[in-house]
Amino acid sequence: MATEKPDASALLHLRGAALERGEPLALPITPASMFHLPGDPATGVDAYGRMSNPTWRALEEALGLLEGAPALAFPSGMAAITAALFATLKAGDRLLLPADGYYTPRVLGDRFLAKLGIAVETRPTARLADGGFEGFRAVLIETPSNPGLDLCDLADVTAQCRAAGVVSIVDNTTMTPFGQRALELGADIVVASDTKAPGGHSDILAGHVASKDEALLAAMRDWRTLTGSIPGAFDAWLLHRSLQTLELRFARMCDNAEAIAARLSGHPAVQALRYPGLPGDPGHGLAARQMRRPGFLIGLTLADAARADHFIAACPLIEPATSFGGVHTTAERRARWGDDVAPGYVRLSVGTEPLEDLVAALEAALAA
Ligand SMILES: *Cc1c(COP(=O)(O)O)cnc(C)c1O
Repeated sequence: MATEKPDASALLHLRGAALERGEPLALPITPASMFHLPGDPATGVDAYGRMSNPTWRALEEALGLLEGAPALAFPSGMAAITAALFATLKAGDRLLLPADGYYTPRVLGDRFLAKLGIAVETRPTARLADGGFEGFRAVLIETPSNPGLDLCDLADVTAQCRAAGVVSIVDNTTMTPFGQRALELGADIVVASDTKAPGGHSDILAGHVASKDEALLAAMRDWRTLTGSIPGAFDAWLLHRSLQTLELRFARMCDNAEAIAARLSGHPAVQALRYPGLPGDPGHGLAARQMRRPGFLIGLTLADAARADHFIAACPLIEPATSFGGVHTTAERRARWGDDVAPGYVRLSVGTEPLEDLVAALEAALAA
């Protein structure tokens, strides 16, 4: 099941290959609502800013290279997920969502999709491979799931979806294309929140979809043009800039997380530790087969809410924040949002700080 590694070298030289003498190596930003458009509007590339933009095009070329399929940029991860759902579903369809994945798609289902006559059901990620997909129109898959870090076998689940005529949509946010190749593992559509590791500096919201299916891609592009769910030129430019260091940041974050998980797993203050890279984790065997790296998220269960809050507050190298994937290590006690996890469950998003500093700070905070 080994998959191709995204070509980080090609990504860094994507623009350089087409440059004329004197042009900047860095991508220029093109903020534009209108383009010079004399005569027949069907000629020329750009006509109006809701339809296309040269900065998006450069970003989508980079995202497409990473995903191995054409990509479309969106202003957030939820905008990307919404495009995938509306491109796929119609009244009377059934949709299966992960019961333990990112919560907002379930809220969207309850508040809006249900009103349009779409039946929304949920199932835990760890039980997705049980199958029974006949009768669904689409299945949203998230592995490892956020926040609980349960896994499912992507090749198996997407093959079962295909056999049942169901569109498989994989939310690859926790992994990025450098950690897991969702399309190669059989997904019809991959979606991601680029607000997380791809943006990486905690300063933009962004998302994308990618698919090898031309009809699905065209429907998602139409959804974007018609609803105006478009990224701004500056945010697209910032994400394009961030993608150039994604391979570097992701590798460092995974290296740090692997070492920290091994170090903290036997710690007396830690009741349970979830990290797919750790031998003994329920997802380890599967992670070794389908993930290129075990990721940068660690689930730590401390004795109770007070101790978890204190751990986060006591560690100078942990920023208390919701969301994850930035260069700064962050953590959150997810039960504070009502997630179905233990009160002392901390989702730790390991950043790019030097490992020795992080280990020392985390151990001191656990001892406090
Ligand atoms: C954050 C997140 C999203 C939503 O992304 P936004 O950019 O906040 O809209 C979707 N899926 C997962 C797994 C996430 O973690």
